[in-house]
Amino acid sequence: MNDAILPGATLGVLGSGQLGRMFAIAARRLGYRVHVLSPDDDTPTGQVADLEINAAYDDLDAVAEFARNVSVVTFEFENVPAATTDVAASFAPVRPGGNVLHVTQHRLREKSFLRQSGLPVTPFAPVRTLEELHQAIALLGCPAVLKTAAWGYDGKGQVMLREASQAAAAWQSLATDEAILEAFVDFQSELSIVAARGIHGEFVCYGPIANSHDHHILDLSVLPANLPRKTADEAVEIARTVLDKLDVVGVLCVELFHHRNGELLVNELAPRPHNSGHLTIDACVTCQFEQQVRAVCGLPLGSTRLHSPAAMANLLGDLWQPRQPNWAAACALPDVKLHLYGKRQARPGRKMGHLTALAGTAEEAAAKALAARAALVG
Ligand code: AMP
Repeated sequence: MNDAILPGATLGVLGSGQLGRMFAIAARRLGYRVHVLSPDDDTPTGQVADLEINAAYDDLDAVAEFARNVSVVTFEFENVPAATTDVAASFAPVRPGGNVLHVTQHRLREKSFLRQSGLPVTPFAPVRTLEELHQAIALLGCPAVLKTAAWGYDGKGQVMLREASQAAAAWQSLATDEAILEAFVDFQSELSIVAARGIHGEFVCYGPIANSHDHHILDLSVLPANLPRKTADEAVEIARTVLDKLDVVGVLCVELFHHRNGELLVNELAPRPHNSGHLTIDACVTCQFEQQVRAVCGLPLGSTRLHSPAAMANLLGDLWQPRQPNWAAACALPDVKLHLYGKRQARPGRKMGHLTALAGTAEEAAAKALAARAALVG
């Protein structure tokens, strides 16, 4: 335990959204101080951090100054430039390391890593030209999904190809020079495993969590997912392999498709706490954000034991139309917890907060979370 970063120390976060906010709240609960660096101000993380540094990620002098004043650097989103984590790493440990970012911020590198690790992955092919797109379609067939290799999230930078004749239009609309074509997976459900790995390789995880999306954005998460034991165990083993092979110190989420034929396929990796893990705040002994604090500080990981089945419903900016949601109506419901991220502007599709509901079964929890969300606008 000599190498542990103990309460009282200052932790640095790159990125200032809701994931950083909930990390900072968990860190503060444990007696740490938190500094955050991002290009924005009055941010969800900045509002609860000790210090909010407003600088671009490629302002390497600012990054150096930030890293000099903290005991460890972590991040809350994966699209931080490699130069930023390299500079930070010369002043403080960066956890998870730059290697994890390098793999996970690029879909082709990520899927190649998964395939080389012997893990089941959505069939894919690299696409750098329209010609290569035609070849990829010949290989994988249609329907298929064309995605930019870098900088994509929540369905941004992706186009669905129903037939080969759409290739030219899809390639043009993506306006990129590096993409990936993926076979369309006929899934029965989408799942995630949120896992944490400590500095000595210890591993804990939550899930599988069952996720449903609306317009490519996570809508509802339910824990535990209703799955055969064997499938659940297999998902956990996939996650363990990913975290071990990448030598992750921190939290990483593995998103999976559960194919109609029963197979599991990895969709993507997120090297940080994940939206689907937000329900762990209210439902588990130790939440995903506290695990991130513990892991990056070299403390023992906490118990992931579930107090009760739970469901989480996202609150997007659309709910603010035509008026502020009725917070009192949701708060009046027993076993429902409201989380808001302090964002000033509610835009359609923007994640503003979430509701977590606890109940005797996962199905009841899901119904309760949806009823609570409906009450906000009723
Ligand atoms: P992604 O940003 O890759 O996680 O995609 C967002 C969502 O789009 C996923 O959660 C799925 O609901 C859907 N999606 C993405 N890729 C595929 C695929 N290859 N097959 C079927 N659905 C997909």
